[in-house]
Amino acid sequence: MPAWTDLTAIETPPRIAALPKDDRGYPIFFTVLVGNDGKPNFRAQDPYKWEAGVQDGLCGICGTKLGKRMAFVGGPRSIKSRYFTDLPMHESCALYALKTCPFIAMPKFSYLAQYAPELTVNPLVSDQRPEMFGIGITGKMKVTQLLSHPVIKAGTFTRVQFWKDGQPFTGLS
Ligand SMILES: [Zn+2]
Repeated sequence: MPAWTDLTAIETPPRIAALPKDDRGYPIFFTVLVGNDGKPNFRAQDPYKWEAGVQDGLCGICGTKLGKRMAFVGGPRSIKSRYFTDLPMHESCALYALKTCPFIAMPKFSYLAQYAPELTVNPLVSDQRPEMFGIGITGKMKVTQLLSHPVIKAGTFTRVQFWKDGQPFTGLS
């Protein structure tokens, strides 16, 4: 599987097209930590943006307000437990992230996974990247603590779809 996806072949939602881009032209997602030198660190999450996102109901990718429905993305274990470290997203933003190379954009919380196996490290960048990602749609979430780290517990999913290698995966029965 190629490490990078040709982003020009994938339709970019306007909300994502409006984001700043890095030197390669990849969109810098909302929660990505940007250093003092202006360079983004795609593997780190900005805790202040996370906080603001939770408080104001912002999408973790484009940083604008979420509607009534929100999408959570995670590996099969995260989808089952409904614990997430990443902010929820617009469904269109989540789908974009799933179709493009998932490695580029999402922060990771490897320190949490060592202690809390029920919490999947953000699988989009984890070294233990699962084969599949699920996207779960819900209207509710709450912030809770897992080993004194703030995490998000998503409400019951009204719909879950699994993706594999950038394509919807229908092999699950
Ligand atoms: Zn969004």
